[in-house]
Amino acid sequence: MTEPPALPPCPICGQPAQARYRPFCSRRCADVDLGRWFSGQYRVPSSEFPPAEDEKYTRRVDPDDEVG
Ligand SMILES: [Zn+2]
Repeated sequence: MTEPPALPPCPICGQPAQARYRPFCSRRCADVDLGRWFSGQYRVPSSEFPPAEDEKYTRRVDPDDEVG
């Protein structure tokens, strides 16, 4: 009889995770995590909006261009 491979503890309650609900220990904890996402407790670091490229256009105008 072999023991199942050790899984990291449930990020919600810290109990040993179950392979069926990994990385959580139970359906309940999985739902809790899902609820946190919907309630906005998790902040996604990635930016949805790319940085404005207005600088490119403002710098296109070079006063020296009119000379000569
Ligand atoms: Zn749990």
